Amino acid sequence: MGEAKRKRRLMEAEWLPLFSVDTPVRVAISRPSARLKSVPDYEAKVAHVYASAEEPPICFNLACNNELRTVQDVHMFIRTDNNQNNLICLCVCAECEKYSDNELIGFVRILNERSGLGLDRQVPGTAIRVEPELPIGGWTGTIAGIPVTVECKKDEEICDAALVFSDLLERGKLKRFLSLRQGIGNCHAIVRVFREELEDSKIPSQHRFAFRRGCSVLAQSAEDPLGYHSWIEFDDWVIEVAHGALQPIIILRKETYYSLMQLTNIHDIRERMK
Ligand SMILES: [Zn+2]
Repeated sequence: MGEAKRKRRLMEAEWLPLFSVDTPVRVAISRPSARLKSVPDYEAKVAHVYASAEEPPICFNLACNNELRTVQDVHMFIRTDNNQNNLICLCVCAECEKYSDNELIGFVRILNERSGLGLDRQVPGTAIRVEPELPIGGWTGTIAGIPVTVECKKDEEICDAALVFSDLLERGKLKRFLSLRQGIGNCHAIVRVFREELEDSKIPSQHRFAFRRGCSVLAQSAEDPLGYHSWIEFDDWVIEVAHGALQPIIILRKETYYSLMQLTNIHDIRERMK
């Protein structure tokens, strides 16, 4: 075997299947005693995860809520395709480093199951990103490090939806939501995590929130021909949180949103909670 081929095989051996069924999803664990060879620039990638987070990420073990304020020693990478184009970095806290590789892989499976990350499904190659654009004036700014755009007519006060949402963000009540939003979550998973954290926050205006799903022409793809999309509502407003990790969160009137998104089959989300 040639040297190059041998090296490639060694590097490939670092990637373990996440599921027993055949999907391209693989995981690789980097520990001080066994650093990865196939992710050479991983130090920079990990540092980026911490540097780009306004709110500290939390340990990916769902049973643990430790915040990760400094770069940790143990990292796990998830590869969603064979080309290493889509690497996801997850970190555990110093306490959870004691778990074995198999236990850590188990945590990723639980995370996938609980948050509906969709890792066990094929990543759609032709998915269209849902991208509503505000046709009218609005306020644009940053709340707790997150860019937010709010529909707001001239001389109109900022809506309660934006005030309540920004209050939750600023008081650090949406940590898991923010971590997921920066990462791999799809709209359904992001909305679900928001709902769980909202329920935990026990704010008085909780009953004014609603969680809806519908079909949008903008979200249709070969893999999802009906274009299912999920979003958050507050009174007569929509909080669109899941149309791309780098896109601002948009808060706009329900009627504006429904017509922009060309929504049909709108219904309340009813799903099993924890
Ligand atoms: Zn932990």
